[in-house]
Amino acid sequence: MRFREPLLGGTAAMPGASLQRACRLLVAVCALHLGVTLVYYLVGRDLSRLPQLVGVPTPLQGSSNGAAAIGQPSGELQPREAAPPPPSRTSSKPRLGGASNPDADSRPGPGPGLGSNLTSAPVPPATALSLPACPEESPLLVGPMLIEFNKAVDLKLVEEQNPKVKVGGRYTPKDCISPHKVAIIIPFRNRQEHLKYWLYYLHPILQRQQLDYGIYVINQAGESMFNRAKLLNVGFKEALKDYGYNCFVFSDVDLIPMNDHNTYRCFSQPRHISVAMDKFGFSLPYVQYFGGVSALSKQQFLTINGFPNNYWGWGGEDDDIFNRLAFKGMSVSRPSAVIGKCRMIRHSRDKKNEPNPQRFDRIAHTKETMLSDGLNTLTYLVLDVQRYPLYTKITVDIGTPS
Ligand code: BGC
Repeated sequence: MRFREPLLGGTAAMPGASLQRACRLLVAVCALHLGVTLVYYLVGRDLSRLPQLVGVPTPLQGSSNGAAAIGQPSGELQPREAAPPPPSRTSSKPRLGGASNPDADSRPGPGPGLGSNLTSAPVPPATALSLPACPEESPLLVGPMLIEFNKAVDLKLVEEQNPKVKVGGRYTPKDCISPHKVAIIIPFRNRQEHLKYWLYYLHPILQRQQLDYGIYVINQAGESMFNRAKLLNVGFKEALKDYGYNCFVFSDVDLIPMNDHNTYRCFSQPRHISVAMDKFGFSLPYVQYFGGVSALSKQQFLTINGFPNNYWGWGGEDDDIFNRLAFKGMSVSRPSAVIGKCRMIRHSRDKKNEPNPQRFDRIAHTKETMLSDGLNTLTYLVLDVQRYPLYTKITVDIGTPS
């Protein structure tokens, strides 16, 4: 009891100098302990921020795969661009079938030692994990567009106007992951002026549609009769060597959509896109018409054994394709005649693309011929592959009519 009062009331009544010294020492030790604890606490807080800046996970974040770092709200680990386009060839020697290409779908996986060596953790696959899926309908669409062909197109300007398009005409949305990996295949010969208009109009539209797309111009070499459907088959096979495309849009070079709600993508049924062309008074010429621009998923295309290889010259191949779809029990999906309006660049008929007199006979026999004429019998020789800034041009020898 003698000692309690002085402890509560002050030092005056404390007995003995040695006890006073002991108390002071105790207070000093406590203060030192508090100070050291405070310093460690502050240093520890700073260290815990480092992983967000340099991509190094720490035990504080409690993760062995970097996932906790991605969950931080700072966004510093988010990539500026989505997955890069696949590596490109610039040109090639003649080849049958061509070289196969790396799968651009593959993402960097966790490297060895992740979690066990704090200084060697690779950048996590933030693209795949942090980007949301693109919305069902793009919010960037503008609706009806004015399409005209009275001013010459300068491709250099088109390049500058589309800085996000990568070499070879590849584009991937940077803010979301598109489920639509679309190869756009254009059969081609001597139509450079038309191609310029096509690139000028379509690149902005396709980007607004938030498609993960690539442009393939399949150029028929030589002077023999033009064969649209065979070139489309070649485009299908060659594009798949570049990337894991799951959808193929087959477009004539002279057709431009007038409304960007007419999405160049695939649907659960084969899609006819150019349903209201100006040359047909903005309506279908007949209900089975499947020409101009159409889209088939990879699976739909494989189901019909691709397109026929033996329609040389103008006409009939699109009717054969329609028949193939019908024989395989598919129907045709179409936009409305308002959304589906499109313009065709007026031109005179190309040489070596005169109407094919055999077309009527051929489309009468699609049911039998589709089994033995298509992807399973396709032969061709790739002569050259050029990766231009806005498109990939594949020049191909497809032979002559047999
Ligand atoms: C031809 C088709 C063509 C259509 C519209 C038909 O007679 O067979 O190939 O797309 O006419 O011109």
